[in-house]
Amino acid sequence: MTENEKLAELLFGDVKASAQDMEDRYPQRDLPAGAKVTRFAPSPTGFLHIGGLFAAMTAKLASDKSGGAFYIRIEDTDKKREIKDGVSELLKGLGSFGITSSEGVISYDCEKGIYGPYQQSKRRDIYQVFAKQLVSSGLAYPCFCTPDELSNLRAEQESAGVNKGYYGQYAKCRELSLQQIEKNLKAEKPYTLRLRSLGDESKKIVFEDLIKGRIEMPENIQDIVLLKADGIPTYHFAHVVDDHLMRSTLIVRGDEWISSVPVHIQLFGCCGFKVPKYAHIAPIMKEENGGKRKLSKRKDPEASVSYYLEKGYPKESVTEYLLTLANSNFEQWRTANLNEDIDKFPFNLKKMSASGALFDLNKLEDVSKNVISKFSADEVLFKVLSWARENDGELFSLLDENKDYAKSIFSIDRGGKKPRKDIAKWNEVKRYLEYFYDELYNESYELPENIGKNEAARIIKKYLEVYSHGGGKEEWFDKIKDICLPLGYTPNIKEYKESPHLFKGHVGDVSSVIRIAVTSRKNTPDLHAIMTLLGEDKVTGRLKKAIDYFKEEI
Ligand code: GLU
Repeated sequence: MTENEKLAELLFGDVKASAQDMEDRYPQRDLPAGAKVTRFAPSPTGFLHIGGLFAAMTAKLASDKSGGAFYIRIEDTDKKREIKDGVSELLKGLGSFGITSSEGVISYDCEKGIYGPYQQSKRRDIYQVFAKQLVSSGLAYPCFCTPDELSNLRAEQESAGVNKGYYGQYAKCRELSLQQIEKNLKAEKPYTLRLRSLGDESKKIVFEDLIKGRIEMPENIQDIVLLKADGIPTYHFAHVVDDHLMRSTLIVRGDEWISSVPVHIQLFGCCGFKVPKYAHIAPIMKEENGGKRKLSKRKDPEASVSYYLEKGYPKESVTEYLLTLANSNFEQWRTANLNEDIDKFPFNLKKMSASGALFDLNKLEDVSKNVISKFSADEVLFKVLSWARENDGELFSLLDENKDYAKSIFSIDRGGKKPRKDIAKWNEVKRYLEYFYDELYNESYELPENIGKNEAARIIKKYLEVYSHGGGKEEWFDKIKDICLPLGYTPNIKEYKESPHLFKGHVGDVSSVIRIAVTSRKNTPDLHAIMTLLGEDKVTGRLKKAIDYFKEEI
């Protein structure tokens, strides 16, 4: 037995499985050539950043487009960052925007797939196997330095003006003899396990990032920590072991990890693993005071995915918008394929912005209005009900009580060639349909500038004389036209434009007043459809109320 093997037994005597056992336990995936295996690997902090959703979507798309696999792994090695229900919150956020998977963590207490456990806190034994292997091949060693010793070292390096860290001559536990280590262990001194870096700073590692292109960096010389004092792996070590054994072929993650790639490539090599491909995503940016900055969890409510859930942006809208950020050719594709399923878009990792896409809520609103305008009334009702169930009990009850009525409301101006684009998110719906429900409706009239209150009362009174329920739109409109001339308005807009001095206004003004009397709005979808739905009693009642109001005001 070599000294290193003795050390490995001393540190990991109870670890019986070998690296080969692990290779056998987690076989290569049986996938066609070129199929990408990707994952989303969040920490269960409960907070899902829109950039996290963006990364997850990107990873899933990359695998879907290649006929590969995508799974969700929970990186819970940092217990300080974990919150109760963090996993459920994360999965809820992801699932609400279509990021689900049949492999990996499915709910806080359930996972699927043969490459598990998919939660790092449950993989302790697996990390130990590779830690032991590294020690026995002389590539890792225990470090007994205390936090105080390490901060003294940093101070010493700072005053000497040399690079900080645990490396080379500064890595004092590197050369501990087996006897010294044994003594420390007997004295129950806590220790971390460090990599014995064989890196050479004057040499470069080169890799081809699928988003950023070719990257060159000096090799890593730091003896980084692999296992913390409690035996829990660091991100670096867990990333390498997990992504190897779960057979990931492409690592899609935030570009804050780029600086760690030399460590990761080195670790893959030390463990004898093949290095996967990397695609580092630039953070989502926000414009501010003419400059750009990262969308911040602390400053920007829209940084959190829960923001979109609470406001009620449909998942289709958010996905569609994120795709415009992901691939600059998406909008062009959408214009050419107006009604095509979004899954048909030929997403391309290589077309991702290397420097960070700019997030724009107004643009999201526009995209969402478009997306919602294409939903059927049934879809809208279903989605609004699901949103309202959690976010607006009053709206939920109103819609749920009479679903046919609600569906008829959502059917107005929908389904034709030019559907109305007036809802961007579900929290606007209540206001949108206020005038259809007495429970929500409060009159508040605002007349067009060219029409006084007295005049409004006259118009409505006249209309009340001819109004009758039922009949088609043409008949309904004819009635409005009929009252125009007696009131001093022309039913013909063209005529008004030619000789405005001959009339008080045109049919548009008359119907505007009627619209305001019935709905308290200057703009609504098709008024005939609205009045038909409201029914005779309600319409008559509202017209009378408006007459009284305008008269009183005179
Ligand atoms: N848990 C890491 C993070 O939340 C994941 C990075 C990765 O995808 O490898 O940043």
